[in-house]
Amino acid sequence: MMVVQNFVVDLNKALVFQVGHLGEAYEEWVHQPIVSKEGPRFFENEILEFLTRTVWWAIPVIWLPVVCWFIYKSIRMGLSCPHLALLVVLGIFVWTLLEYSLHRFLFHIKTKTYWGNTLHYLLHGCHHKHPMDGLRLVFPPAATAILLMPFWNLVKLMATTSTAPALFGGGLLGYVMYDCTHYYLHHGQPRTEVPRNLKHKSLKRKIVDGFTSS
Ligand SMILES: [Zn+2]
Ligand SMILES: [Zn+2]
Repeated sequence: MMVVQNFVVDLNKALVFQVGHLGEAYEEWVHQPIVSKEGPRFFENEILEFLTRTVWWAIPVIWLPVVCWFIYKSIRMGLSCPHLALLVVLGIFVWTLLEYSLHRFLFHIKTKTYWGNTLHYLLHGCHHKHPMDGLRLVFPPAATAILLMPFWNLVKLMATTSTAPALFGGGLLGYVMYDCTHYYLHHGQPRTEVPRNLKHKSLKRKIVDGFTSS
């Protein structure tokens, strides 16, 4: 698709298929946050739009039973308790490394092509553009479900039949803890009545996102 020079994004229209037109200007645009709790529309299509909005508690509600199911699979295959605990902790550790690498090398990749910008915006750019959009913070479960399949196959290749589920369950548990903590750091209510200013919020965002250049 053609990249239009000096393209201006219309914030009142669905955003996803517009950001690609920004070309080289996308990088700067995406790092100028709109600090509003109200989320913009991503897609004109109702189903796609629905899939981009996730309440934070859907993450533990959907994924914790899956974590338990995977851990239970290892227990049924006779894995001992200390061994199990070790694998779950190892899974959490592997998730942490993975999150670090993804954020460092993929989430902040520089793009300027139409589809590069569009995919980056969907994957992570939207979080920097709309950091306070509570429904676009945790990862949509439908997308997670798709990504889990190749990861599960990879873990099965690298671990034994009885250890793979516990390791994978630990990794998924690490993800759930990460996504909920991340949400809390953006939206959690402090007990004191001291108004939280923007600087405080952006500081917290930097701690979580770690590698934000802006
Ligand atoms: Zn964040
Ligand atoms: Zn980031």
